Amino acid sequence: MYYIILLLIFLIGASIGSFLNVVIYRIPRGESIVYPPSKCPYCGHKLAWYDMIPILSYIMLGGKCRYCGKRISPLYPAIEFITGLWTVIVFVLVFPQGIDAFVEVLVFGYFAIVLSVIDMQLYILPNKILLPMAVFEVAWTLFAFALGWETLLDIRNRVIGSLVLLVFFLIIYYLVPDGMGEGDVKLSPIIGWFLGFPKIVPWFFIAFGLGALVGIVFMLMTKIFKGESKHVVPFGPFMLWGAVLAWFYGIPIILWYRRLFFI
Ligand SMILES: [Zn+2]
Repeated sequence: MYYIILLLIFLIGASIGSFLNVVIYRIPRGESIVYPPSKCPYCGHKLAWYDMIPILSYIMLGGKCRYCGKRISPLYPAIEFITGLWTVIVFVLVFPQGIDAFVEVLVFGYFAIVLSVIDMQLYILPNKILLPMAVFEVAWTLFAFALGWETLLDIRNRVIGSLVLLVFFLIIYYLVPDGMGEGDVKLSPIIGWFLGFPKIVPWFFIAFGLGALVGIVFMLMTKIFKGESKHVVPFGPFMLWGAVLAWFYGIPIILWYRRLFFI
């Protein structure tokens, strides 16, 4: 029975992933996410409901448009699958901790998926995604506070987290203009709010550590294979998924670090 519930949750997640695909495709193009209905980006044919079943339609159509035969990007079913998987993971790991954390982590991940893909494709973090994300974070916190799920101390820690990250990113932005995008600066207080103090401390090491590591590997690879060192690795995905890691493992990391030095 438990596995049937998990399968159902995966399918709900994959359907949400289908919507995230629409957001990822349309927002950077300045299009509405509710109108017009989905159509093939090549031939413009309107898609029927059976062309849009998450993951399955892609497999049944052999990765090609039913109407013009052009290849559909495997990114679409991949995002549906990842979103389904994310929904199941958060349900299994966070739902037992309460609805407050469950909703916040789940929705943060959905925003993280959208922002990561757009940042990797276009090197931007659009305001049209960042703003709703910030509004959601603050609104959900106030809602949770009103219901007594969060304390004043929790909110104070979120405000501290937000301010510390924003000030830190502003300083980097002005000291090293090429090192940080404007979108990264705008994203930083949202991450700080999501994690709060003290989880922002391990987040620094995770996000900048992974970012530097992947950046160096990427730079070496482009140098070896393309003979050039010009490289851009977007930092957004590291900030976002570093925040997810810090949310889950931040406190254990802090405790481990303290044990190293205080025992
Ligand atoms: Zn087509």
